[in-house]
Amino acid sequence: MTPIRSQYGSSADLDIPKVLARIHEEVRPLIGQGKVASYIPRLACVPANRFGMAVATLDGALYTEGDTDELFSIQSISKVFTLNLALEALGSDLWKRVGREPSGNAFNSLVQLERERGIPRNPFINAGAHVIADVVLSHTSNARQKLLEFVRDRADNQAIIMDEEVAISERDAGFRNFALANFLRSFNNIENKVDDVLDFYFHQCALQMSCADLAHAFLHLANGGICQRSGESVIKPDRVKRINALMMTCGTYDAAGEFAFRVGLPAKSGVGGGIVAVVPSVMTVVVWSPGLDEKGNSLAGAAALGRFTELTGLSIF
Ligand code: GLU
Repeated sequence: MTPIRSQYGSSADLDIPKVLARIHEEVRPLIGQGKVASYIPRLACVPANRFGMAVATLDGALYTEGDTDELFSIQSISKVFTLNLALEALGSDLWKRVGREPSGNAFNSLVQLERERGIPRNPFINAGAHVIADVVLSHTSNARQKLLEFVRDRADNQAIIMDEEVAISERDAGFRNFALANFLRSFNNIENKVDDVLDFYFHQCALQMSCADLAHAFLHLANGGICQRSGESVIKPDRVKRINALMMTCGTYDAAGEFAFRVGLPAKSGVGGGIVAVVPSVMTVVVWSPGLDEKGNSLAGAAALGRFTELTGLSIF
């Protein structure tokens, strides 16, 4: 039995391994349903019938269930890491170049950008992530290395890599991303060469991590910006509030409202089938299952997170 302190409920004595095992059983019929992202050809061959869950708590425990050691492509989840870096580099000036509203459109849509004169709605749609990548490039001599170091340190795993094959596969099929980034450039909201921005962007999306890696890597966002292991400050508390708020409102594609309703936690998903959720002051919860629903979120993963907050009462609402 693990005592969990939650500011959102009475201190619950939760048997997390039991909760995770129960959820795995309950969502089993959904595993393998949905569509694996195939617009990135290298991702099309990932088996859909995988399911893993990991919980990392602020008291240092890690709980896992299912395929938690398998590495997967974190895709858009990486946008949270680069937002950390860009906010540290530019501070609140960042918001002159990217907005903070849900887009109400698909993550790779072009139409809104024209109407809104090259200012992307938020950092988690692709156009917003391109601007964030541009900021990181402008403020570091080796952006890829800087990001890798940040992620490895946060996850406490120096073996994390960017999968070159996934990055190349996405570049070769990345016509929409090239269109978006060129469009941003035409509005002077990209400073670096479009090819350099997209090279960095495709590599950040190609970060390969396990559920356990991600659970550790997001823990500072449950801990007011403090690294749970070392006690060092990773980002300022007011930025943690902003990042978690953006995950809540914009982190799960054009389904963030439904996700808030079902799960009630700040979360970020990726088309690799991963979803990371943050329970402030308590824990991170990660789920991975590659079959996606029509909005691009992991089908079994979203159901599992919904059950997790129902069974534990751990939600921010
Ligand atoms: N690399 C993907 C793209 O640009 C990220 C999509 C996602 O995970 O949301 O399309």
